[in-house]
Amino acid sequence: MTEGASNIRRAVLEATRLHRDLAIQARVIRGEGRVDVYDTIARLGVPLFFTHLDGLLGAYYRKPAAGILVTTERQQSLQRFTAAHELGHHYLGHSPSLDDEAGALRRQPFFAKRDEDLQEVEAETFAAAFLLPRWLLDWHCERQSWTDQDLLDPVRVYQLSLRVGMSFTATVWTLFRYDVFDLSVARAMADVAPKKIKQTILRGYAPTSYRGDVWLLTERDADLRVEGGPEDLIVVRLEEQSGAGYMWRVESIDGRSLAVVSDGRQGDPTDEVGGPTLRQITTEARRRGLGELRLAETRPWQPAQPRQTFAITYNLAGAERQGWYSRQRQSHFESLRAA
Ligand SMILES: [Zn+2]
Repeated sequence: MTEGASNIRRAVLEATRLHRDLAIQARVIRGEGRVDVYDTIARLGVPLFFTHLDGLLGAYYRKPAAGILVTTERQQSLQRFTAAHELGHHYLGHSPSLDDEAGALRRQPFFAKRDEDLQEVEAETFAAAFLLPRWLLDWHCERQSWTDQDLLDPVRVYQLSLRVGMSFTATVWTLFRYDVFDLSVARAMADVAPKKIKQTILRGYAPTSYRGDVWLLTERDADLRVEGGPEDLIVVRLEEQSGAGYMWRVESIDGRSLAVVSDGRQGDPTDEVGGPTLRQITTEARRRGLGELRLAETRPWQPAQPRQTFAITYNLAGAERQGWYSRQRQSHFESLRAA
């Protein structure tokens, strides 16, 4: 057996057990298609606090009682992965741990390198298996109609990573673990620059910065809840029956948090004249905010009779800020008052 193989197997089994014990699968499938790691930590009664941590991504401590700290200095996906890693330390009965970025960059989930601390291998593997279990991959692939072949495209893997709330790289290694593609594909994909993927989706639109994520939504994403950040772009790409006079238009948008920045069409070159075109409407976040983006496909002379509509909701809150996890805040104030 290769080094660490039994630790990796144990971590995956324990992540599966925790999903089962807390009936997480049913919640995820009813909800937004991502595992709520903060809620899981709260349900296990472990205090979760977000704060600036010098040189650390997160920490797990046991005295005087178990607790988890997560940095406020990193993006949402890394905060979620760090929380899942610390949850792994807790659930697997590990000793206290201070987790720095150097360690996180050195490691890959499901791999134990020579002389690696096996407790860290277990926590890292637990995190990936907890945030992206096989059934959740299958669920998203079914919804999007993606095959393994489709997942050779970094744009799709990136879109999957946004929907499950995990970093692109961790998603690549998890798909490798699930035999979606082989090691050479995984290595090449993990090396693709995120900016390049974002530029491919944006088709010529250049935002002032590429720090935010770029969501590519199609008709498969109707009613999706986008859990994004205040620098994200949301691109809606829909087939338009332009040959029959129909055009998509934005019916509802909160202009203070989201603005349309680009709007274009692309014909299908294989199609005859008069067939459908692909409409791409690009919106950019202006600040943190919650709202609904709704479009309708109508004929200009019949605006009240849409052929179809498309709507999503968005939460552009981004990374968690300083303080207790919101659903634990009240109980901590109460315990302070009682003390
Ligand atoms: Zn750790």
